[in-house]
Amino acid sequence: MNESAPQNSNCRILLPSVLEFLSRGPKKLLIGGKWVPAKSGKTFETINPAHEEVLAIVAEGDNADVDDAVQAARKAFEGGKWPVIGPHQRARYLFRIAELIETNAKELAKLITLDNGKPIEESIAEAARAAETFRYYGGWATKIYGETNPSDPSLFSYSLREPIGVCGQIIPWNGPLSTISWKVAPALACGNTVVLKPAEQTPLPALRLGELMLEAGVPEGVINIVTGFGPTAGAAIGAHPDIDKVAFTGSTEVGKLILRASAGNLKRVSLELGGKSPNIIFADADLERAVALSARGVFRNQGQVCCAATRMFVQESIYDEFAERIAAKANEIKLGEPLDKTTTMGPLVSQEQHERVLGYLKLAREEGADTRAGGERGPQPKGYFVKPTIYTGAKNGMRISREEIFGPVAVVIPFKDENDAVIQGNDTIYGLAAAVWTRDLSRAHKLARALKAGSVWLNCYGIIDPIAPFGGYKQSGFGRELGMHSIELYTEIKSVYVKL
Ligand code: NAP
Ligand code: MG
Repeated sequence: MNESAPQNSNCRILLPSVLEFLSRGPKKLLIGGKWVPAKSGKTFETINPAHEEVLAIVAEGDNADVDDAVQAARKAFEGGKWPVIGPHQRARYLFRIAELIETNAKELAKLITLDNGKPIEESIAEAARAAETFRYYGGWATKIYGETNPSDPSLFSYSLREPIGVCGQIIPWNGPLSTISWKVAPALACGNTVVLKPAEQTPLPALRLGELMLEAGVPEGVINIVTGFGPTAGAAIGAHPDIDKVAFTGSTEVGKLILRASAGNLKRVSLELGGKSPNIIFADADLERAVALSARGVFRNQGQVCCAATRMFVQESIYDEFAERIAAKANEIKLGEPLDKTTTMGPLVSQEQHERVLGYLKLAREEGADTRAGGERGPQPKGYFVKPTIYTGAKNGMRISREEIFGPVAVVIPFKDENDAVIQGNDTIYGLAAAVWTRDLSRAHKLARALKAGSVWLNCYGIIDPIAPFGGYKQSGFGRELGMHSIELYTEIKSVYVKL
């Protein structure tokens, strides 16, 4: 595909289709198969975090728009085409969406990078993963079985797995397309309808996907997209009496609000929240690999990843060598224009996030940690850049070791032995992920059992594949997404008895 000449600093090296999408006027809400403005007429700006320039104007949906979207989703669920469409047809829609994501992957990737700031290569990988997830759940649509139950001879009993109904889905900005695929694909595979609220920072990939879903022929009202703010549009989804299930990914703080709001009509709830994951490196590890993949584990997506390797526990005898090598890796990172293919780290997503992370860098100095790499904003005159940062001399009790920073920042903490590693590793309110680096196979498996985390990586980091469940222990949330577990999240079970 030809790439157009640069137009302005916002739109460097952009595809004509991206420019066309951005210039097509204010972005609207998708309700009942139609693109409509917010009822209030309000809009907000979405910003390119690399240049602090406006990318597009977007409809600011609120309570009234969520109401309309829920009505459209209810109509599609109860009385529209969706309930009478069989699993083979639902599978075909999901396969078609996967194909359309792939055909338009370059455009979607550029929209992700423009809106979120992550390097373009990471956005290309994100678009590919989203397509894969839609395809994976397309496969599931025809494999959602019920059960026959071992009843008394005078009875016949079976159980059905049925869709729950209208699902509200609230997603964050760090994976603006992949988090949609994790939620929308299984919901539709099971026969539900959806009201989706993307994060205010990154509405564009979701809106373009909405267009592609209509192009795929998904019937009206099956997917509804309400852009807007958390405390208004998001809260309206959490509290809505006619939403049957809510799935949320984001901060632990907002997760608790969603849980409280869900009590009104006892919605089914699944929460994928924050993390402060221990990454444990033993002296017998393949150090070169551990350093390279640990750096990637914390710096990918500017560290704005719920399962980032933010607490690195390193066995005492290799502590100094590891610290030196990971700091060198941090300094090799090329911070800059995220649309440039050679860039390995872009800006943080927003001014708010930039200020928040810079606040933690200040706190690190106050808490007495030693800065081994970074520790300050990037040299760029514009944009929300932060240098990849490594702190040594850190303790597990410091706030920088306990709170989710959600930026390119890791603390390196020494440990003595297996027992010490497990105690320190588990000493957190979170439990999303953990990793262990060692050549001792039985130690690796022993720690996999001992660490309280929903995903454990042994001699690798951050692998997530739709075939396996993902989610958190403790305050990292509950419910597991991906694999067959999403089918459980998006279905109700009904038992039927027949008197023979
Ligand atoms: P957040 O507020 O939890 O945002 C996640 C989603 O929830 C967004 O769509 C947001 O809307 C919405 N939301 C916000 N307040 C809401 C409310 N009262 N009711 C319903 N929905 C609401 O996260 P954030 O403010 O963007 O980031 C803050 C921190 O959260 C980060 O620094 C990080 O620690 C954590 N975080 C974790 C993840 C993760 O993957 N686990 C992802 C993102 C952030 P708007 O953004 O449109 O207002
Ligand atoms: Mg927010």
